[in-house]
Amino acid sequence: MTNKPVPKEPELIACEICLKEIPASASQSAEAHDYVHHFCGIDCYQQWQQQQAQDQED
Ligand SMILES: [Zn+2]
Repeated sequence: MTNKPVPKEPELIACEICLKEIPASASQSAEAHDYVHHFCGIDCYQQWQQQQAQDQED
């Protein structure tokens, strides 16, 4: 009888820009308006920052 530990599935979250699923631990995150946004990497994070800046201009 073997007792193999069941590997816990990493929590996956979707990048807000490209919607790619990434492990939460590997994500870039930013807090804005009391909400935490998640991104797959710095590229998507910077894209989001630009969008935020544009939104505020209107
Ligand atoms: Zn992304």
